Amino acid sequence: MTATIYQNLCKTLAQRGGRYPGVDIPEFYALMEELFTPEEAEIYCAIPRGFNPPSTIADGIDKPVNEVADILESMANKGLCTTGKFKATAIYGAPLLVPGVFEYQFMRGTSTKKDKKLAKLIHQYKAAVDKIQGPPKVTFPTTRVIPVDRKIEAGNTIHTYDQVAAYIEKYEPLSVSTCFCRHEAKLIDIDDDCGKPNEVCMQFGMSAQFIIDRKMGRLINKDEALSILKLAEDAGLVHTSINRQEIDFLCNCCSCHCMILKTALDQPKPGLSMNSGFRPIWDFGLCTACETCIDNCPTEALTMSARDVPDIDLDRCIGCGVCASGCPENAITLETRAGIAIPPIDRKALRTAIKETGTQGI
Ligand code: SF4
Ligand code: SF4
Repeated sequence: MTATIYQNLCKTLAQRGGRYPGVDIPEFYALMEELFTPEEAEIYCAIPRGFNPPSTIADGIDKPVNEVADILESMANKGLCTTGKFKATAIYGAPLLVPGVFEYQFMRGTSTKKDKKLAKLIHQYKAAVDKIQGPPKVTFPTTRVIPVDRKIEAGNTIHTYDQVAAYIEKYEPLSVSTCFCRHEAKLIDIDDDCGKPNEVCMQFGMSAQFIIDRKMGRLINKDEALSILKLAEDAGLVHTSINRQEIDFLCNCCSCHCMILKTALDQPKPGLSMNSGFRPIWDFGLCTACETCIDNCPTEALTMSARDVPDIDLDRCIGCGVCASGCPENAITLETRAGIAIPPIDRKALRTAIKETGTQGI
């Protein structure tokens, strides 16, 4: 009976997809038995697409609504389902493993025995799936980069979706949590630390409320959000999010640990698998050939030319602006890059684009 429940969970997660769907291998069952109790697994499978009240979810299984509601609450605290409110009624959704359940496990930044065990099991599962599936095929970008907008050259059009500060201004509430990628690595090996700041992952609106309510992060005001943004930029981290104009999270990624950036770097042309729609340009009169931009570039898109000025490989450049923000001579600005599609307007438009091109989820 229990084995059947976890097999159903595998089938459900395989159908729902994402960067790491359900794959019927021993590593899947070892991990799922640690994450979900059999009851929770059964309820997860019964949650229909979108957000639903406990009564709808209970319809799919033989359990009283009150019992299902209590289990859903406990699952939300464990990051096994998401929740919000519709006209004062609690509603629940079933997140994918990635993005979703795996990230929620490490956003609190705690290092308990269970955290360490989960980090190992998640790492083993991801490694096994990567071995079977190889790098994901990105034919339509599912994620995007948001540039360091203060470095955009005057005269270029800057849309609201190009500016993290505009999202900070627009949404309420805002929250910050620990970078789950860097924290997961540290839970596995305490010395696996690139020294980049950890408490820099932000959430907006309903997602922020979920993170705050479930104590996976904390409420921040707009000034603190802007300070975190500056901290991330000063550390050379790349602003990334989902590839749509309405976003609900902002990651600040390093190339050594973060899944979004590492997935782009696994592609033959990282600059086409994820991009901000901008590219750097140089004022060579100001450049002193110090090579800081070359060292800082997270995608190794820059080399020093025979003329002693940086050369760019646009197939690798994701348009993050890290080179520009770190240049001591202010010799680099960003300009609009031709040929990069604007982000789909919303969730539905992104889903359609992904479906039409056959991209695997990231
Ligand atoms: S960081 Fe600035 S000054 Fe140094 S090589 Fe790059 S463009 Fe030139
Ligand atoms: S050259 Fe490198 S650092 Fe500069 S925008 Fe492109 S990817 Fe970012």
